[in-house]
Amino acid sequence: MSEWILTYEGFDPDQEGLREALCTLGNGYFASRGAAPESQDDDVHYPGTYLAGGYNRLTSESAGHTIENEDLVNLPNWLCLSFRVRGEAWFDASTAEILSYKQQLHLREGLLRREIRFRDRDGRQTLLRSRRLVHMALPHLAALRLELVPENWSGEFKIRTAIDGRVVNNGVARYRSLANRHLETLTIEAVGAESLLLKARTNQSHIEIAEAVRTRVFSDGEPLRLERDTAMEADYIAQDFCADVTEGQCVAIEKTLALYTSKDKAISEAALEATSDVQRAEDYPSLEASHLGAWEDLWQRIDLEFAMQDDSQGERMQMVLHLYTFHILQTVSPHSLYQDLGVPSRGWHGEAYRGHVLWDELFILPFLNLHLPVVTRSLLLYRYRRLRKAREAARAAGHRGAMYPWQSGSNGREESQKVHLNPQSGRWIPDHSRLQRHVNATIAFNVWQYYEATRDTDFLCYYGAEMIWEIARFWAGTATYNPQRDRYEILGVMGPDEFHDGYPDAREPGISNNAYTNLMVVWIMNQATKLFDLLPQDRSADLVAALGLTESERQRWRDIARKMLVVFHEDGIISQFEGYGRLEEFDWDGYRRKYGNIQRLDRILEAEDDTVNRYKASKQADVLMLFYLFSAEQLRELFGQLGYEFNRETIPKNISYYLQRTSHGSTLSWVVHSWVLSRSRRSGSWDLFTKALDSDVADIQGGTTPEGIHLGAMAGTVDLVQRGYTGLEAREGILFFNPRLPQRLQHLRFQMVYSHHPLAVDIAQDRFKVTVSPTCRTPLQIGFRQDVVEAAPGTTLDFEI
Ligand code: BGC
Repeated sequence: MSEWILTYEGFDPDQEGLREALCTLGNGYFASRGAAPESQDDDVHYPGTYLAGGYNRLTSESAGHTIENEDLVNLPNWLCLSFRVRGEAWFDASTAEILSYKQQLHLREGLLRREIRFRDRDGRQTLLRSRRLVHMALPHLAALRLELVPENWSGEFKIRTAIDGRVVNNGVARYRSLANRHLETLTIEAVGAESLLLKARTNQSHIEIAEAVRTRVFSDGEPLRLERDTAMEADYIAQDFCADVTEGQCVAIEKTLALYTSKDKAISEAALEATSDVQRAEDYPSLEASHLGAWEDLWQRIDLEFAMQDDSQGERMQMVLHLYTFHILQTVSPHSLYQDLGVPSRGWHGEAYRGHVLWDELFILPFLNLHLPVVTRSLLLYRYRRLRKAREAARAAGHRGAMYPWQSGSNGREESQKVHLNPQSGRWIPDHSRLQRHVNATIAFNVWQYYEATRDTDFLCYYGAEMIWEIARFWAGTATYNPQRDRYEILGVMGPDEFHDGYPDAREPGISNNAYTNLMVVWIMNQATKLFDLLPQDRSADLVAALGLTESERQRWRDIARKMLVVFHEDGIISQFEGYGRLEEFDWDGYRRKYGNIQRLDRILEAEDDTVNRYKASKQADVLMLFYLFSAEQLRELFGQLGYEFNRETIPKNISYYLQRTSHGSTLSWVVHSWVLSRSRRSGSWDLFTKALDSDVADIQGGTTPEGIHLGAMAGTVDLVQRGYTGLEAREGILFFNPRLPQRLQHLRFQMVYSHHPLAVDIAQDRFKVTVSPTCRTPLQIGFRQDVVEAAPGTTLDFEI
């Protein structure tokens, strides 16, 4: 066990999908799953390679519907590298006699390593060692090195290196009845003595993808010049060669990939760049050295040290926190800056949610704000560039402003499915998840958080304010005034809790007055109004003119901010939505006894011809999202401006109420629940934190992680430690802390940036220290609870907790 290594011992076919997802290597430009190089798509393996933002659309017929889906495309498999001992079958871990097997993901170095000792039918014993990387400094390159050592024999190895363009999108069982062939091959050729090229094109979005691989063989460090046989088939190109080896001799095969696409900037043509890069690439050891350097730089900015009373448990937790941070950085990295990318909820690690961008960025961007705010900025620009589509969508729905889609892909149109398969019943059922308009609150919230963390007024002036105003405008049109109540209402939406997509027996989908949505809208109206004073006057005037914003619109925003409806049950519980209080209680114990895992009880009930809409049962935090995003003080103000009472009891009372009625069918749910309990019920919060931490590493949903990691839960978990336990909040030019560590945690240290200044944070149970880097040019305003002090560059503030 190490804080920096994820280790798997032994080969376990049932675990392989999970290992492949968790051992994915990527660099923010592309990613390859951690599948064995000799494997192909079969019941055990799924070697996927994905270009960040590489989407394509296909049309399928399903359940009487014509469906068009946009998918993250599985690219030609470049990993293919197989070998066999003369006279034996190609090596396959499922059939070989394995003497020892160890696979390790080295998180600090960004390397995947595997060591296997196996024996063939004639008793020949061979050691196989491999290491691979997807380069963090040279984003178009990846490399793998395989070493073979015959331990008790001499003879011949046959080696095959290939690029396989026959791949389809086959990674998610539920999608398998849909069209899945996204690629057409344009060129396959051998280039020079050592390299192969496959160029393909996506068949709708017409992205050209060029993969060039170079394979070299070394013996004891010296290159071997071997005869090669090149074989080409449709969509596939391979080279075979043989190497004679003597007992104990190490033969190393190095395969290097260069990947370019027609989406790249500053290139001539993808295949040209790929072949030239791969031919010029350094050998594996040098590539590894520069790759390690890039990871070292990243970790310096982002690492979080976490010390517990119980060292062995602490070590595992620290490893998982490193693993999750590692996957965030592999999905969005400084290389994302040069592209047009959003942050996909399931990483570039698999095909679940088709690589789409949902609201999960609410859990991811605040984490990035404190380490790589420039990456947050580029992810927000992904949204800005899709403002046009969001405006179109608002107009089509009869509103002004911008209505961002629940699921977003290439151009920002709505990519949510219209029907989805319930694997429990085998039925295709209507999917109304697109009614989760609250994604628009996520975008506005993230713009604001980014601004608070960086004070980047330029961003606000040229992009952020426009998004917030257009989103405010959309909500102002969606909210309807109810004169009987003298309140504004929002009807026909869905909250974050996806179980409730309508009222039982109602013909139209959607629920009314989701408390989370309504309060977020109030918050948006407040911020939209504040912006008029915050922006430089000339810029504000230009933007107002360009958008045609009128005084009466602004008046309506202010009115909504005072008169939005929030529904309560009689006993002061905030109703998740109007009518929630009248729903039936769900038989949690009975269903747990009957089914064991009831996280997806929506599927269970549908398969029983019932509907979860009838019950007080939530998939994930919904009302409690409010306590996740806002402090008690902010909520008191929000409720106060609406004329509702918000007292000391409101938060704990609502947490207890909803915690008992939540199945945690989304990994995000553990994070939020743990966060909202972190101050009031520290031990309960800790238990939920450990669940959140296990989400992916232990695949607690029983099979979803192999289809792609849960990036929101990963980032949310690390962020819970970073912001939740420290009470860190950037507000109006002051960086506030209000630390409270869980009892089990002794110490926490991390580096961060605030408003472009580096800081070091160090927290123990009884002390809190923050050091402002001597490189800062100006003093910073630091708040410890209510007290604000000015910290000069180079000073350490030390507080007793
Ligand atoms: C959750 C959503 C989330 C999505 C992608 C779903 O299960 O309910 O809130 O956006 O997964 O992570």
